[in-house]
Amino acid sequence: MTGLLTQTDGSPVAIENAEAGGEFLFVCEHASNRMPERLGTLGLSEDALESHIAWDPGALAVSQLLSEKLHATLIFQRFSRLAYDCNRPPDSDAAMPLVSEIYEVPGNRAMTAEERQSRVDEIYLPFHEAVTRAVAGRKAAGRQPILVTMHSFTPVYFGAPRAVELGILHDADSRLPDRLLAAASNEDVGYDVRRNEPYGPADGVTHSLIEYGIRFGVPNVMIEIRNDLIRDKIGQRVMADCLVGLLTKSVAALPAR
Ligand SMILES: [Zn+2]
Repeated sequence: MTGLLTQTDGSPVAIENAEAGGEFLFVCEHASNRMPERLGTLGLSEDALESHIAWDPGALAVSQLLSEKLHATLIFQRFSRLAYDCNRPPDSDAAMPLVSEIYEVPGNRAMTAEERQSRVDEIYLPFHEAVTRAVAGRKAAGRQPILVTMHSFTPVYFGAPRAVELGILHDADSRLPDRLLAAASNEDVGYDVRRNEPYGPADGVTHSLIEYGIRFGVPNVMIEIRNDLIRDKIGQRVMADCLVGLLTKSVAALPAR
């Protein structure tokens, strides 16, 4: 059986600032719209492959700024979420979706069981192992990591505009999200900031928070930024500066761990 990834494709996981001493650990599952070469275009148009269904535009750039400013490690996935969505477990239909918003994904329709498994083995599992190792390694060394997963969402979904600009998402552990929301409202950050919008746990988007945060007792949050706010370098810098302030204050307000 031939595997999925080629030598040209390279590793599915990228780690930046691996040795950074800061307490934050940033994770970006939807950083890239790159497709493994054996998957071609999955039958999608160029427009669809450029759109939010294939990746989270701007999320990687903001994550890199945060990683730099907060001296924190950043782990991101190098392939499109249409090849495998690393924020979903292998048994989820959304891991290799047949439909994403208004687009059908023909290349995900006719997969054999082996093809499915090779995406799990070669894209999801190495990513899962890298993040797990980063969290477990910090805990074993007596460090107290803070997990932040970074995402962006489309301003118009199924034709309806969205007012929310910054979503603070969480599952059962709301220690950090509560403090982020409080900091955002106290400081009147100038964005429309909401809890568990435009998605929440019921949408199945908290897989990474559960696997890498809750499972280890590590404070965690998923940040969703409306992607029109981080389209260019200026927007990305403004957003990153805002998040640095909010995150730093929120962590300082956490009870002793
Ligand atoms: Zn995302």
